[in-house]
Amino acid sequence: MLVLEDVHTHYGKIEALHGVSVEVKKGEIVSLIGANGAGKTTLLMTVCGNPRASSGRIFLEGREITNESTAQIMRSGIAIVPEGRRVFSGLTVEENLHMGGFFNTKAEIRKSQEHVYELFPRLKEREHQRAGTMSGGEQQMLAIGRALMSRPEMIILDEPSLGLAPLIIKQIFEIIGQLREEGITVFLVEQNAHQALNLADRGYVLETGKIRLHDTGKNLLNNPDVQNAYLGG
Ligand code: ATP
Repeated sequence: MLVLEDVHTHYGKIEALHGVSVEVKKGEIVSLIGANGAGKTTLLMTVCGNPRASSGRIFLEGREITNESTAQIMRSGIAIVPEGRRVFSGLTVEENLHMGGFFNTKAEIRKSQEHVYELFPRLKEREHQRAGTMSGGEQQMLAIGRALMSRPEMIILDEPSLGLAPLIIKQIFEIIGQLREEGITVFLVEQNAHQALNLADRGYVLETGKIRLHDTGKNLLNNPDVQNAYLGG
């Protein structure tokens, strides 16, 4: 569904991705793990066209998107939940969801909203609450719910567990598993390597802008190098 072939990305003269190749197949959860500064966010943002890949190619459902604008890419069945759960804090839960359905008709928005409330009953309960007054976990649910409003075939999540309490992290990972049940392809970027690999069909390890390892989630969890570097030995 998503293929990156030998992608290089630069910030000015500095190269942040040194030839990255990744494949996410339809219906899979693929986790990308890596330390701070490894280039995880850069990789996701390159898929979204900002920054652009300086060389290499990116395909979505067989169509090359390497040189498409972010707006075009976002209309091709892909939705992103950026790091830091950027919800509109002054808007209510419902208004935030409507922002996610920006490109859709009113009827589609209503249908998507009902679907999001089925997945996240907590959001329904808080429909009229301002997003900025909700807990971190609730805001993360809202950020995911907002991404789902465009009925994406694939969702990209950048560190959804960041800064959340263990119990909430467990819930968020359960929800991500549920997305796969719904047939949504998931590309997950995480520093929480244990949970991310446990949930993933396949995983990639990114180190200083290069893919060092890729394998099934289970094999990576059992790999001694991964255990030492990312799972606390
Ligand atoms: P983290 O887990 O801390 O978010 P990351 O793996 O997502 O890290 P990136 O944010 O992609 O890593 O950063 C990769 C490298 O690119 C780092 O060396 C970073 O300093 C650099 N970088 C990221 N954004 C920019 C930018 N806008 N301008 C210049 N350099 C940048």
